[in-house]
Amino acid sequence: MKHHIRLAGLGALLAVSLLGCQKAKAPVAPPAAQVTAERLLKAADEPSQWMTYGGSYSEQRFSKLAKINRDTVKTLGLSWFADYDTNLQQTGTPLFVDGVLYVSTAWSKVYAFDAKTGKQLWQYNPKVPGEWAAKVCCGLVNRGIAAYNGKIYVGTLDARLVALDAKTGSEAWSTLTFEGSKDDPTNRYSITMAPRIVKGKVMIGASGGEFGVRGWIAAYDAETGKQVWRFYTVPGDPAKGFENEAMKKAAGTWSGDWYKVGGGGTVWDAAVYDPTTDLLYFGTGNGTPWNQAARDPKGGDNLYVASIIAVKPDTGEYVWHYQTTPADTWDYDAVSPMMTADVTFDGKPRHVLLQPNKNGFFYVLDAASGELLRADAFTEVNWAKGVDLKTGRPTVVKEARYEKKPFNLSPGVQGGHGWHSNAFSPDTGLVYVPTQRAYFPMVGDPKYKPSDVGYNLALDFAAPMTYYQKNPAEKQGFVGFLQAWDPATGKMVWQGEENQGPTGGAMATAGGLVFQGGGAASEFRAYDAKSGEKLWSFPTQTAVLAGAITYELEGQQYVAASVGGQVPGGYFAPNYSRLLVFALDGKATLPAAQAYTPPPLDPPAATATAEVVTAGGALYGKYCSACHGQSGQTRGSTFPNLMITPLLHTQEGFNQVVLQGARSERGMASFASVVDAAGAEALRAYIIDRAIEAKKAMPPPVSAPKQQHE
Ligand code: CA
Repeated sequence: MKHHIRLAGLGALLAVSLLGCQKAKAPVAPPAAQVTAERLLKAADEPSQWMTYGGSYSEQRFSKLAKINRDTVKTLGLSWFADYDTNLQQTGTPLFVDGVLYVSTAWSKVYAFDAKTGKQLWQYNPKVPGEWAAKVCCGLVNRGIAAYNGKIYVGTLDARLVALDAKTGSEAWSTLTFEGSKDDPTNRYSITMAPRIVKGKVMIGASGGEFGVRGWIAAYDAETGKQVWRFYTVPGDPAKGFENEAMKKAAGTWSGDWYKVGGGGTVWDAAVYDPTTDLLYFGTGNGTPWNQAARDPKGGDNLYVASIIAVKPDTGEYVWHYQTTPADTWDYDAVSPMMTADVTFDGKPRHVLLQPNKNGFFYVLDAASGELLRADAFTEVNWAKGVDLKTGRPTVVKEARYEKKPFNLSPGVQGGHGWHSNAFSPDTGLVYVPTQRAYFPMVGDPKYKPSDVGYNLALDFAAPMTYYQKNPAEKQGFVGFLQAWDPATGKMVWQGEENQGPTGGAMATAGGLVFQGGGAASEFRAYDAKSGEKLWSFPTQTAVLAGAITYELEGQQYVAASVGGQVPGGYFAPNYSRLLVFALDGKATLPAAQAYTPPPLDPPAATATAEVVTAGGALYGKYCSACHGQSGQTRGSTFPNLMITPLLHTQEGFNQVVLQGARSERGMASFASVVDAAGAEALRAYIIDRAIEAKKAMPPPVSAPKQQHE
């Protein structure tokens, strides 16, 4: 992304000199990423490494390293850093294997660094077509990679699974995960999750539940890239028959012609292999469209959307499921990170699966049987009174289904918890949950019609600004904070400070610490795992959302985190996206942050009629809000804030981008197939109207309110 290269002074010099080194001399190369099945099984007992996304198969993100601990953490400092090539949001958990740090970044790129020197060994760019961004709901992000047998695996935004030679970064194989040609209009998939390796196979699923796809998880041979099995999560067209008994059973919980827009149930984050039960667990996303009234006229449970499912990892055969949100109509994906743990329940040890769900309940399930043991609200919840442990079903508040009138939902579609990594410390018995308290007005769209372009939600996604203008007394906003949760009692033990928008991922250590990114607060923190006392923090100049890792090299413990995203000014702001590596007595410093003022909120005068503005709002909600937020403000720094873009000042310039695709390479596709000239005028009129309202409501400069879901 050429236009994003805005390196800060020293960083730029470093990057240039490193590029020089890279060209001058090939990396010294002993075998790289020699992660074997045996090493993966015993990853927790090899704490010098961070070989897999969640740290080990349990995905507890707990390290036995303790040189950095409650006493020494005060001397923790920056050891080295490396600049990324874009100011887009960074959500990748790095891996550390045998002296090399690997990390995925925006646009599904992958970097490898020599962990001793910080020297970049290689960078891989899968060259995702820019216009694919129109099929991506929540940022051009990638959350992680997998390492196995000399290869690094990454899923791409255009739904490929790619294996790289860990030594050189060159492609070993690349497989389209969509079962058809890549240009098929029903290929509306994107991959943002980390692949998981189980017994020589690569497990991956894909996003797309906001657009209209059928969810699945699949296993590929790690050596050849050949598909071994695929488990669809929702039934397809009954006329074509069902793949298995599970799909046949699931079809009985649907009515109408759901399969025409896919049904949803995408597997886009959590996947945990448990060697104890030999099961693979994964979560499934929302039903498509979000509004169930437009998906299933009879309002059945719609298996297996919003569910936790266990399958056999060798064959993909269904074993059990637990549906966290039956008849989902709230975008309550069940994909939040999960972990297995041994927890004492009523004096007895239980091997359990834990998930703080997007719907606001923390679930504890028996890992072998899927039996529900606990379900407790861990944040503000108003859509259900609780969960009946006998039936396993939530006690839904009828009004929450927004069938007759709008409902101010909590947790809103941002979720009580997103994709941000949780951690568990066996020493404290606590789960560290990046928690969200968020509201979102659910306003059904009775005129909804399925579309091949843009969202298929069947509700007004641009509703919040007008809804809260009309209902100023209603709760609104979106804050994040870390909390320590006791899974055995179902109670919060401590809470960290709050920041606007989502808060970052967590990682726990035997040093009695929890490391956590402070989201838009732009700091990286260490808390006392037991008491919640904040013991250390580092100003990162940009948001910290990704999960951190820790590892040991030549006797020294390090902590590494990928940072980037959500600085005031968003898309237009300077680039501070980096890999930061910390060690005790680390003495490196970041280049000073650049003075920066976002462009002023200075919209042209309103000239359109109210009808035109309303029509523009409808188009905006459907085609633009996914990337540009509800009123034109950017989401997660991903795309320009339309309220301040210079393009707003001429219809001609606006049309060049919206209709003629002048910026498709950067991720802004032409919408000419669904928006005509009159529509483009209405869109511009709507954004001008929003900008005028925003200018009245808040003093510039604008610090964009954050909105995020997936
Ligand atoms: Ca979703």
